[in-house]
Amino acid sequence: MTGRRLALLGATGSIGVQALDVLRRLRADGFPLSVTAMAAGTRVEALAEAAREFDVRAVGVSGPNHAEALASLLPPDIEVVHGADGLSALAGRADVDVVLNAVVGAAGLRGSLAALEAGKTLALANKESLVVGGELVARTGAGVAGIVAVDSEHAALQQCVQGTDRDHIERLWITASGGAFREHRLEDLERVTAEEALRHPTWSMGPRITIDSATLVNKAFEVIEARHLFDVSWDKIGVLVHPQSVIHGLVELVDGTVLAQMGPHDMRIPIRYALTSPERLPDPPARLALGERSLQLSPLPSERYPAFWTVVEAGKSGGTAPAVANAADEVLVDAFLGGRIRFTAIARGLEEVLGRHRVGAGDSLAKLEEADAWGREQARRFVEGKE
Ligand code: NDP
Ligand code: MG
Repeated sequence: MTGRRLALLGATGSIGVQALDVLRRLRADGFPLSVTAMAAGTRVEALAEAAREFDVRAVGVSGPNHAEALASLLPPDIEVVHGADGLSALAGRADVDVVLNAVVGAAGLRGSLAALEAGKTLALANKESLVVGGELVARTGAGVAGIVAVDSEHAALQQCVQGTDRDHIERLWITASGGAFREHRLEDLERVTAEEALRHPTWSMGPRITIDSATLVNKAFEVIEARHLFDVSWDKIGVLVHPQSVIHGLVELVDGTVLAQMGPHDMRIPIRYALTSPERLPDPPARLALGERSLQLSPLPSERYPAFWTVVEAGKSGGTAPAVANAADEVLVDAFLGGRIRFTAIARGLEEVLGRHRVGAGDSLAKLEEADAWGREQARRFVEGKE
């Protein structure tokens, strides 16, 4: 089959499974797109099933044991790779044109770098690639010009700025639902459970980003992501609370015009557009019932989301600081989901770890990996020492 050839990294996750749904429909509609490679972390059975369904040439998983288990589920002519090198190899394959990176966490960075290095189009859901390695990504291959954003806010902004002179941009606005606890009393946040935090009011997503949406760390990551993608100064990126999750991003222009992108909160829409753009296809998975909505936009309250400000500050510090913020957050979220720390300890842990960090240059993978390991270790100590 001719057309675009895809590598889907993170095929078993929330974005990955929605991407598979998009791919099924594209295939049924005869859109020229085939899947060459897929990768996941540990869910080998789901990966093997998807790999067989889409007749891929190569697959990858996180470790050697999983690779062995995966190989036993697949025909022998399918190549099986593992680890960060395996992920890079899949992303850089000669028979791949587009890499959809839907891995969660810093583990996604290597795949993004390999894709850009090899001149692929990078359909990017893994925002950590830009949070942790934004400076590196910008200098690799076509840099951010090689990226089509999948994250809904950035997909919105990319569509709004098309054809707009950079000098005409007054401000980029990202919307935030406010997460699971938008209306909780601040003093009650000490006692909220992981189960409650996982109940996102509008979006259905993987566990880490759902918790990050409740702390608004996700939104801080998105501010950093926007800063790298659009190369505007920090003061030109704002966040608005928008509980309906219908407006995904707004671009305010110098003449007072505001361009906004709206859509149903269904990630299959930005996923599909990232795979088919500039083509716009009919029959979306969902449509907005225009005329039946009232939409609210309000400023971000300053006290409710302490982790947001801490992580944005880390973004502004640059260098190794955002890598430490991400690494610490991965550990803290995991500890909260495992019932080892309270919800409010995520923000405290981030503040403590980042407060101890001496920011260094983040201009090589080795330095970023070192910062990542340091951030994880410090966060683990925080988890063990507190509560
Ligand atoms: P999930 O936790 O649902 O899925 C994560 C995926 O990454 C799984 O396929 C997992 O594999 C895979 N994975 C984990 N570690 C590795 C590794 N070391 N090597 C290869 N694959 C790995 O996450 P989401 O789908 O929710 O999110 C994915 C990314 O997209 C995140 O960066 C998130 O911030 C971003 N995003 C998500 C949105 C959403 O709606 N979910 C919206 C916007 C952005 P396995 O399960 O087999 O271990
Ligand atoms: Mg988003």
